[in-house]
Amino acid sequence: MTTTTLADAARHDDGPAAPVPLVDLGLQHRRIAAEVRPAMDAVMDTTAFVLGPEVTAFEQEYAAFCGAAHCVGVGNGTDAIELALRGAGIGSGDEVLIPANTFVATAEAVVRAGAVPVLADCDEHYLLDPEDLAHRVTSRTRAVIAVDLYGQVAEIERISEAVGPDVLVLEDAAQSQGATRAGRVAGSFGTAAATSFYPGKNLGAYGDAGAVVTQDRETAERIRALRSHGGLRRYEHTHLGTNSRLDSLQAAVLRVKLRHLPEWNDERRAAAALYTHLLGDLETVVLPRTLEDNEHVWHLFVVRVADRDRVAARLQAAGIGAAIHYPAPVHRLPAFAGLLASSRGLTRSERYAGEILSLPLYPGITTAQVERVAHELRGAIGGTSEVPRG
Ligand SMILES: *Cc1c(COP(=O)(O)O)cnc(C)c1O
Repeated sequence: MTTTTLADAARHDDGPAAPVPLVDLGLQHRRIAAEVRPAMDAVMDTTAFVLGPEVTAFEQEYAAFCGAAHCVGVGNGTDAIELALRGAGIGSGDEVLIPANTFVATAEAVVRAGAVPVLADCDEHYLLDPEDLAHRVTSRTRAVIAVDLYGQVAEIERISEAVGPDVLVLEDAAQSQGATRAGRVAGSFGTAAATSFYPGKNLGAYGDAGAVVTQDRETAERIRALRSHGGLRRYEHTHLGTNSRLDSLQAAVLRVKLRHLPEWNDERRAAAALYTHLLGDLETVVLPRTLEDNEHVWHLFVVRVADRDRVAARLQAAGIGAAIHYPAPVHRLPAFAGLLASSRGLTRSERYAGEILSLPLYPGITTAQVERVAHELRGAIGGTSEVPRG
């Protein structure tokens, strides 16, 4: 556990019945506005708006932060996954294993890369279940994308063993910036890792942004070409690429925020520890657990309750920004009808989709706010003795 404690000081909006949002980006901005404004001004003064020195500097700093050799800044996290796949040589006719319980982007990116998503079930940590995965490998399986869902690194070494040496392991680290497993930082595992700097992520830009990190120089160079019309020099198009580059203004914001990320992740951990302490005695609430060897960064604090929709509605009516990540597994989304291989036996993903509930958690959330959420959750659960089935 960390020694960071949450802010106790009541803020002007911190009365006993004040709403508690799911995330508070305004608070985060106010804490760093004095650093962000001059950084953005400097970009506007140079007019280097796309790629340029700020992007290069951020790429170097983010690679170092992850313990990876290379970082390629791209337009968003979805493109990062697609370009990581394409950069690793995955395409038409290839099967790519992904968890059924992920944000839609993981599956979208596989289809956009020309490959076929094959869904696997999760374990009770909401991460890819290596045992289920092993049964879904075929002669066409070329890669698996381990998603570090909710902020902890998936069991990469067991996943890698389950799929065998001929299948590439990629990481969707959109929710795990700064998380570690056995001392290694998220993004440094596998052939390449994609991440998203969507504003609500642990490291969020002021608009869309993303990156791929990799240890492999050739993969990095291919992705560098792909993100910019398939060439490293103007009008030399060696690959069929796309336009997905990181904006300099976003890079300037991200450079400021990266310096604060470790401290913000500590604040998230302190809030998660407080929730665990306050809710630990409730048999009707399943709390999230951290895998051994993992340091969690709590992108989301997700509990499970039996009568989820009613509990969520009660919390929302009380001003608590509870939410659901995500309401349906990939194979229940109409967009993927006909695009998936088999989707049988995804029982945990299906059951959990009806029970999961994300509670407010963000850097700067106060002790009083966490206590209020815990109190309202107790009230919402009321006398139910029903326990989640999972
Ligand atoms: C946010 C997210 C993405 C997509 O990132 P965008 O920047 O929104 O395109 C992909 N995978 C996961 C798990 C995410 O949480």
